[in-house]
Amino acid sequence: MAKAFIGFGGNVGDTRQIITDAMVCLALRSQLRIIHKSCLYQSAPVEATGGDYINSVVQIETDLTPYGLLHVCQTIEQQFGRERPYENAPRTLDLDILYFEGVAQGDTELTLPHPRITERSFVLLPLLEIAPDFFLPEFGALKSYLPQVAHQRIEKLTCRNCASDEKAEYRPPAH
Ligand code: ADP
Ligand code: MG
Repeated sequence: MAKAFIGFGGNVGDTRQIITDAMVCLALRSQLRIIHKSCLYQSAPVEATGGDYINSVVQIETDLTPYGLLHVCQTIEQQFGRERPYENAPRTLDLDILYFEGVAQGDTELTLPHPRITERSFVLLPLLEIAPDFFLPEFGALKSYLPQVAHQRIEKLTCRNCASDEKAEYRPPAH
C-alpha cells in the first residue's frame, strides 16, 4: 500500500457539502482507504477568478497506481459536475494528487509531487494539520514553507473533528 495525499477544492455551489460528499465517494472506492481528513478551510483565490475557495486534504493508502488514482479523482470531479471552460476557471470540485509515495515524475498528465504543493497556503495548512512533520523528498520539511505563503488569506472553518480550542469562527465573506 502506498501513502498519498489528495487536495480538494472548489468555489462554485455549496462547496462545503460538495467536498464532504466527494470524500464519501472517495471512501467508497475499493483499493484505497482514507487515513486522515483535514478540516475545511476557506481561502482567497490564487491566480484564479471567482469567490473564495473551500479546501481540504486527505491522506490515503492505496493499491492503485498513480494513474489509477488520477482516474478515480477525475471520475469523482465529473460526478460533481466539474467543467473546464478555461484554465483556472471557478470549479465545483478539483481533486489534485499532491503526493504519491515513492513517485517523482514530470509528466504533464500527472506531475508528482504536485508542482504547487509548497506554494499554496490552501495546500500546506490542511496537509500539515494531518501530517505536521511531513517531509517531502527533494523539498524538505513542508512546514518550513509556511512563511512563504503567510500573505495568502486562509481561515480554518469549524468542523466536528476540531479540538474545541482550535475552533475558528466561520464568517461569510462580506459581499
Ligand atoms: P488545476 O491545475 O487547476 O488543478 P485541472 O484540475 O483542470 O487544473 O487539471 C489539469 C490537468 O492537470 C489534468 O488534466 C491532469 O491530468 C493534470 N495533472 C497533472 N498533475 C496532476 C496532479 N498531481 N493531480 C491532478 N491532476 C494533475
Ligand atoms: Mg486539478
